[in-house]
Amino acid sequence: MKKIGIIFAMKEELEKTLEKITYIKKHKVYELVIYECKYNDNKCYLVESGIGKVNAARTTQLLITKMNVDCILNIGVAGSISKEVKKCDIVIANNLVQHDFDLTSFNHEKGLIPNVGKNIPCDEKMLSLAQKVKLDAKVFVGTIASGDIFITEEKMASKIHNKFNALCVEMEGAAIAQVSYLCNIPFIIIRSISDSPYEENNELTFDEFLKISSDMVAKFVVQLLKKIK
Ligand code: SAH
Repeated sequence: MKKIGIIFAMKEELEKTLEKITYIKKHKVYELVIYECKYNDNKCYLVESGIGKVNAARTTQLLITKMNVDCILNIGVAGSISKEVKKCDIVIANNLVQHDFDLTSFNHEKGLIPNVGKNIPCDEKMLSLAQKVKLDAKVFVGTIASGDIFITEEKMASKIHNKFNALCVEMEGAAIAQVSYLCNIPFIIIRSISDSPYEENNELTFDEFLKISSDMVAKFVVQLLKKIK
């Protein structure tokens, strides 16, 4: 039996997964509500961290130290920064980078964190299980870039894409990666695309895509949970 921590930044993302897995118990850790679920032979701990790297890092550490999880999954939505990656496509991170971490004044590469590194790789076993999930969606594997900025401009998106060779941007993944890495806990980050500066605006807003993309990535995670032993 594995204890799996699953982190969502937003309520909408958490709710779509809770529709698919019923919880048996609620834990309160400070203001966080952690939903304990049984799935196959594993126990899952689902939690809404709040948006951004600090919320994500702190929630990761609490799941590790208070709930003793064996591994961490982070699922949710992200913005595309590649012309190939379209709304509702899935991106599985094979590594994460913080695009807003900047010690270039000290001749460090942009994104490089002393004593941690620049690109933090996801757990290889979890990555290969995630790649076996079959879903009616286009799936990409590559770098996800995180930072405390909601990216809407094409210029900024292409700058991050070119600098880090990343497929999409979001605001939590690399923080979860950093804490998991420092605590030696396997992790994986999986995102569904909710917005893209390269696609024409249509009648659906971010909030509408948020629901559709959250549902897509929830379906993905349910499939993945069946494979984790
Ligand atoms: N609707 C919220 C704000 C959402 S912030 C409010 O009103 O408070 C966006 C969230 O979705 C973050 O958790 C981030 O991880 C993800 N995200 C989706 N598209 C993004 C983009 N283009 N840039 C950065 N983060 C994005």
